[in-house]
This record gives sequence, C-alpha cells and structure tokens, in this order.
Amino acid sequence: MTTIGAIDIGGTKIAVGMVDDNGRVLSRMECPSSVAEAYGNGLAIVASMLRTAMRTAGVSIAGIGIGSTGPVYPFTGRFGDLDFLPQWSGESLVDDLTREFHVPVALENDADAAALAEVSWGAGRSKSRLIYVTIGTGIGGGIILDGQLYRGVDGAHPEIGHQVIDVNGPPCSCGFYGCWESLAAGPAMTKWIESQAEYAGSEELTAKRICELALGGDALALRGVERETFYLGLGLANLVNLFTPDAVILSDSVMRSANLFLDGIREVMRKGCRFVSLEKVELTLASLGEDANLIGAARTWHYRFAQDARHACQ
Ligand SMILES: [Zn+2]
Repeated sequence: MTTIGAIDIGGTKIAVGMVDDNGRVLSRMECPSSVAEAYGNGLAIVASMLRTAMRTAGVSIAGIGIGSTGPVYPFTGRFGDLDFLPQWSGESLVDDLTREFHVPVALENDADAAALAEVSWGAGRSKSRLIYVTIGTGIGGGIILDGQLYRGVDGAHPEIGHQVIDVNGPPCSCGFYGCWESLAAGPAMTKWIESQAEYAGSEELTAKRICELALGGDALALRGVERETFYLGLGLANLVNLFTPDAVILSDSVMRSANLFLDGIREVMRKGCRFVSLEKVELTLASLGEDANLIGAARTWHYRFAQDARHACQ
C-alpha cells in the first residue's frame, strides 16, 4: 500500500489529506487560502497539516502530490502568478517539501490533476481519450489523450474556458469577448439574470439559487437555465468536434444541478457534431465528489513517479 500526501491549493481553501493507492482519502484537513498569504507561513501551515493528517491516518507517506489552481509549472515545480496568493509567485513548494519530508513531490494544475484521478480511479476508468471540464466560478479542464495528460508547448495547460463562443459576448478576464467562461461559468448565469429588465430580486443571486428557482418554475430562472444549457452545449460541441474523445466528464458547482442541463446539452451537441461519432462519446458526470482535486493531487504523484502510472491511465 502506497500512501501519498495530497495538497489541493485553491482560491478559497487549501486542503491536505492522505490518499491510498485506490484513491481513497484516509484523512483530510483544510484551512482558508488567505491564512497562507505569506509564502513562508503558507509552507509551515501546509507542512504542519501534512504531519497532522499523517498522524490521524496512522500512516507514513511515499510521496507528495500537489494540485493547484494555475498557472503552475509542473516540471520546475514553481508557481506562476496566482492572483489569490500573489506572494507565492516563483516559489517552489516542490523543492521545499522535498527538503522537509525527504520524499519525491509532484505538482500539476488542479484540473489536470482531477482529470488524471477520474481516468484512473473515477468515471473515466478504461477511457483512453477523455476531456474533463469544470464548470464553476470559471470554466477549465484537463485533457487526456491516449492515456497521457496532454501538455502543450513548454508544458502549457490548455485553457478550454477561453474558446470564443460569441464575439459579441461579454468581456472576459483574458482580454477577449464572449469566451465560453464569460458566457457559461456560474457568475455568467447570475450576471445575465441580473441584467434582465424583469429581474426584481434583492437577494444575492448564485448559480445554485437560479437552479433552485428554475426547479420551482420561475420563468426568468428557466430562461437563464435554457441560455446556460445552450452555451454549455456549444462549448462542449466544439471540444467534441476538435478532439472526438471517448468521454467528456463534467464537474464543479454548476454541475451539481446537472439534471437541469444534460438533456438540453445533448440536444445542442447533436445539432453541431454531425460529422463525428457523437453517439459513441460518453457525456457523464465526475464521480470523485468534493475531494476530486485532493484525490487528483495524489494521482499526480503516481502519474509522475510510480511504475504503474502508464497502465493505470490506459
Ligand atoms: Zn477569455
């Protein structure tokens, strides 16, 4: 049994846990990302959480895997400019934890990490070509081709949320207009509803709340869901036309209400994916739950260092 110390670094929280070689979380703890603002302090907190999680599970670790909201540089182990932890830019948690724990440490983008976990231990098992898509406060993803994590030039992680869907769409953080993320991430749903003349609500709106209102028959919320379904379908149709994967796996907060969207998404995709074998592309939900990123962080270690990594991903 190989136990890996897993670290999931996200915009709101840092989670740490022990994950066994079946992808089971043996212990976990977390802290708000904001308490780790100064890098040295963050390193001390992460190391201390790892030790506590090891004690709680009664295990020692063969290695450490880190998944982080990007940008990250997997092969140098360094962070790029993280807007939620700006002082971590250029630092290497990989080097520092290797020194501290004397085990090999791997780092990946968190969506790539979760894609690796789903293809090895989750809904994508036995799939050779898979696209993992997160639809939450943003849209991101990871691509597995022929069992291997797809990396672009200089090891770059592809930004599937920044495919332009409508040039007349809203401005995006990247500088373009009408990117998939700016049209179909959770905040895009709330912005659209709030921009409608008939919107009269005073409560703070979230994608989750819109879905609840739609289930209750609210006409405006239903239109919001219809719009969301259309844009999700367009973006996914583009990915299927470009990559013709075995499976597309959907995850993150907006997909907690997937039942509202899935049939409509399939309908949009059927209209736009006529020249590929869409009927053979499985469209499914992620199966690893709330800890998918933590489990993915552990999987990055197996993928990078373990002998079985290649077989496990095929
Ligand atoms: Zn963009």
